[in-house]
Amino acid sequence: MKKIGLIGGMSWESTVTYYQIINRTIKEELGGLHSAKCIIYSVDFDEIEQCQAQGEWEKSGAILSEAAQSLEKAGADFIVICTNTMHKMVDQIQRSIAIPILHIAEVTADELVERKISKVALLGTKYTMEQEFYKSKLVERGIEVLIPDRLGVDVINNTIYNELCLGKIEEISKKKVIDIIEELSKQGAEGVILGCTEIGLLINQADTKTLLFDTTIIHAKRAALHAIELDKREKCI
Ligand code: GLU
Repeated sequence: MKKIGLIGGMSWESTVTYYQIINRTIKEELGGLHSAKCIIYSVDFDEIEQCQAQGEWEKSGAILSEAAQSLEKAGADFIVICTNTMHKMVDQIQRSIAIPILHIAEVTADELVERKISKVALLGTKYTMEQEFYKSKLVERGIEVLIPDRLGVDVINNTIYNELCLGKIEEISKKKVIDIIEELSKQGAEGVILGCTEIGLLINQADTKTLLFDTTIIHAKRAALHAIELDKREKCI
């Protein structure tokens, strides 16, 4: 079994979910007492969020590069960055290590292509929704990407940073997010990417008829299957 190197803490609320899904997947696949071989390097999210807010992306990339190097030295075979947003700096991080990074948007795009989705909506932080670093990974696979309107972007972004990353689950925010999902579905989205690793703490498939693609679930399951070198794609959602 390969050792998974997780860069977590962004926020730690969703790193918990990664740890659970990875271990559950290994247990489902291998049975008995099997569990994942993994190493978690958990950063202080306050430092990362300050870099984001001040536009100091290279500084945040340097912090994550140091984490990735530590994981490589500790024996990780590949890296999983447990956040969508910080994949903005994936090239910088990849240049600092010799082991591969399992890219969250690439595995999500794989899932969409397998499910024959050609038009999808993307929910995440304002950086993920509005900038190109994430959407381009979908567009290059022939997938059209919708995002919420200005107000919707603010609602989702504020819910992530002011509630979910702090462990707060609010019914009112859940309703607002579901309304945004329904609106995007009306605009023709065949599915909605939960492109922030905390959104799954607020809503799941039982809350809406619109097909959801939870990046935490997809990324963590694929990481576990990759660790045991399985490619059981039908199991990935
Ligand atoms: N976990 C979130 C994401 O998946 C947001 C936190 C961050 O800015 O890294 O994008």
